[in-house]
Amino acid sequence: MILSIKKYIALVATLSVVAVLSACGSEEVDAPLSLNSVVVIDVVTTIYPVTYFVERIGGDLVSVTPLLKPGVPSHDFEPGPSDIIELAGADMVVYNHPSFEIWVADALDATANASRVIVQAADIDASESDGIDPHVWLNPLKAVAMVEKIRDGLVAVLPASANVISANADDLIAELTALNDQIVESLAVCGHREIVVSHLAYGHLTGPLGVRQIGLSGISAESETGARRVAEVIDEMRELKLKFILQEPLSNSDLAKTVARETGVEILQLHPLEALTEDEQQVGDDYFTVMQRNIDSLVLALGCSGG
Ligand SMILES: [Zn+2]
Repeated sequence: MILSIKKYIALVATLSVVAVLSACGSEEVDAPLSLNSVVVIDVVTTIYPVTYFVERIGGDLVSVTPLLKPGVPSHDFEPGPSDIIELAGADMVVYNHPSFEIWVADALDATANASRVIVQAADIDASESDGIDPHVWLNPLKAVAMVEKIRDGLVAVLPASANVISANADDLIAELTALNDQIVESLAVCGHREIVVSHLAYGHLTGPLGVRQIGLSGISAESETGARRVAEVIDEMRELKLKFILQEPLSNSDLAKTVARETGVEILQLHPLEALTEDEQQVGDDYFTVMQRNIDSLVLALGCSGG
């Protein structure tokens, strides 16, 4: 419905070439490569990691519209009228998992479109953690599986560009695999087995390392925390002699400050990557630069020797 400028240009270019071919009386126009190479598809995405993966894998072949903008907390998001228009006009929609984007099934129903390809990037094994933890992208190896699903979706829409798409995905998978190796190495020998975090976003990252997260709030960043929970966290921190609280950038830091004051510990940043802040977006941060800082914070908070 809504035609982006890039897509419009691609369409005009395609039509002109088709017109030239028709004028020459050519009967054999079976998907020439030169035509497919100018097609740019409109992909609507949701949260930051999905957006970043689609941009990396799709490259010049995609025009990406993220529904969640930088600086906006993601768990509470609900699509507005302009988001519905974007979803209706998309060639492809990529989201993380219905346990994060709880609005997605209704929004896709409301904008049903037979030619649109829909990709749910994350698969979650509910038996792995207490409840469904949708923050799958924070584990680089699980992110590889997301990349593969997004790659397959893009190839389904743009089969003539399968080589480019697969090569882009391979590059990204190599980077994610190297990042995972670095995490395993950096966090192999540590003084602590627990971290205190803003919300329970890090199970996929820390679980395989045998690290337990103690949350100021639950799996959703916006869930309420009562005074009793704060007292429990303070007790546990004292007992475990933990020296740091890991606070995320886009959630209210009052609670972390209260606990830090009470226990005399320091606050470090740990980033769930659900959304970049506007500043991070401006300086060109991405999944990998933020994950590097996350590793630094975890090495400090856990007292690991492999920094
Ligand atoms: Zn979260």
